[in-house]
Amino acid sequence: MSRCRDCEVDVEGDWSRCPLCSGPLAGDPGVGPLPAVPLRFSRRRLLRALVLTSIGVVLVSFAVQLLITPGVPGLGVLRSVWLAIAGLWLVVLMAVHKRRNLAKSTVYFVVLVGLVTVYWDYLLGWSAWSLTYAVPILCASSLLALMIIVHLMRMEVGEHIVYSGLVVLLGLTPLVFLGLRWVTTPLPSAICGALSVAALVLLQLARGAETRHELAKRLHL
Ligand SMILES: [Zn+2]
Repeated sequence: MSRCRDCEVDVEGDWSRCPLCSGPLAGDPGVGPLPAVPLRFSRRRLLRALVLTSIGVVLVSFAVQLLITPGVPGLGVLRSVWLAIAGLWLVVLMAVHKRRNLAKSTVYFVVLVGLVTVYWDYLLGWSAWSLTYAVPILCASSLLALMIIVHLMRMEVGEHIVYSGLVVLLGLTPLVFLGLRWVTTPLPSAICGALSVAALVLLQLARGAETRHELAKRLHL
């Protein structure tokens, strides 16, 4: 047990600072009175969802190539669906390994790979494929990954608020490019926007009541 000299209280558990005054604690913290809650998700269910979603994305890409693209130039761009699957796996695996900073790492991932594709597009003479396809695909795959994660992993209430913000950000970015007319075809951005709405609905269903309560508490409503 450690002790705060200012408050003259003994503090039980693994605290680095005094929970009352945030001052320094003296003594050995010892073992906390509460059991450590393990991360609750089934690796097998997660992998199955991931594999099924990947197969679904590939099938949809084949269907789109069959049905839509014959009249559209740039058929090969749809093959960047592999980018979507790579992104999906990466975000889910990040969630499994580094769960606490998932929102931040997802944003870093999308921004970093997005910038690389924009630079690549620029080097190839700028046909806007990066903003038309690559960035919406990255955002959409991150949204799909988030939906899998929210569906299969137990989340803290605060995390749902962070994820809702992330979902809005991922959905809005391609729509902003669309609004600025920086893209050559609106479909990928529109799909991403629709996915974002679906993810928001899923988040609301998953933890809606608790999230609203937590928001009200934080905003002092
Ligand atoms: Zn204190």
